[in-house]
Amino acid sequence: MKDATKVLVTGAGGFIGHHLVTYLKHNGYWVRGADLKPPEYSPSDADEFELLDLRRWDNCLQATRGIDQVYALAADMGGMGFISCHHAQILSNNSLINLHTLDAARLNGVKRYLYTSSACVYPEFKQTDANVVPLKESDVYPAQPQDAYGWEKLVTERLCMHYREDFGIETRVVRFHNIFGPLGSWDGGREKAPAAMCRKVAVAKLTGNPVIEIWGDGQQTRSFCYIDDCLNGIDRLMRSDFHDPINLGQDRMVTINELAGMVADIARVRIVKKHVAGPMGVRGRNSDNTLLRQVLGWAPEISLEEGLARTYAWVEQQVREKLQSTGRGEKAKPVAV
Ligand code: NAD
Repeated sequence: MKDATKVLVTGAGGFIGHHLVTYLKHNGYWVRGADLKPPEYSPSDADEFELLDLRRWDNCLQATRGIDQVYALAADMGGMGFISCHHAQILSNNSLINLHTLDAARLNGVKRYLYTSSACVYPEFKQTDANVVPLKESDVYPAQPQDAYGWEKLVTERLCMHYREDFGIETRVVRFHNIFGPLGSWDGGREKAPAAMCRKVAVAKLTGNPVIEIWGDGQQTRSFCYIDDCLNGIDRLMRSDFHDPINLGQDRMVTINELAGMVADIARVRIVKKHVAGPMGVRGRNSDNTLLRQVLGWAPEISLEEGLARTYAWVEQQVREKLQSTGRGEKAKPVAV
């Protein structure tokens, strides 16, 4: 363990960061986690876990001390419901986190730095059709990212490029497309579509009320990538020599209505979709994985059905416990398909 590479995972109390800590520990790294909060659903496997507000420069210096590699995942973020109505907070907090973390890493002599960007960097004008052309990395310019969240991600991508060119720190930039899986937010307002859908279907199943709400007409399209593929891709990219931004996601596109149907099939429950007003984001989005395959010789492998089945099982358990703790679980009557 003395010679193990020392890595910092920021956002280690969050969904992907928590899984990444476990993955890196299993692969022999010495891991420090940093976050405002510990992971919510299971203890961290990190060798050290520091509760730090990474908007602060001094805290970033503390987090990066003695570290060889940084995986920068900390962000003030959530699903469409969150990022569509907290623009100032998101732009301000995430800018501070990323400016300070990257510069502290440079000052502390960190050699490699992975920044987690997002498909939200792609221009809105290329995503107006549900049957969208998959987005390739070069589509990002001319820039018109989605929301303040996307703008901040794009600026930090540029920051990574300039720090690599000017200061020699080996930066890697990954653009995630809707990562999902167990141990992520599933209620409270920051949850993303797959976890929210699993929760709605689980509530329908466990309470006997088949009606689930879907924002908009449900014809908007996305691709969804399971967490284990995400971790595999991050690891491969970090070990590679490739420093330009690269997509990491599935390239199978489904509508939100189809997603609801798939989760209901997994849960073996009948649902009635009620379409309500709500933030829908862009009309269509899919990942072009040509570059990913070329550079890493690999692409995500876990099917959406398999990933959703694993995620649904975990979310259903969370919903069951919550309903029981509020006394509603006792009245629960399952609805068969
Ligand atoms: P998450 O919200 O579960 O985790 C982010 C973590 O950052 C949280 O635990 C939060 O407490 C922490 N954080 C926020 N502000 C902080 C601060 N000031 N100091 C220290 N920690 C702070 O999100 P996630 O899904 O795990 O995403 C991880 C990264 O990947 C983020 O940068 C996100 O923007 C990016 N990303 C995720 C997805 C996805 O589908 N999940 C898609 C695109 C990009």
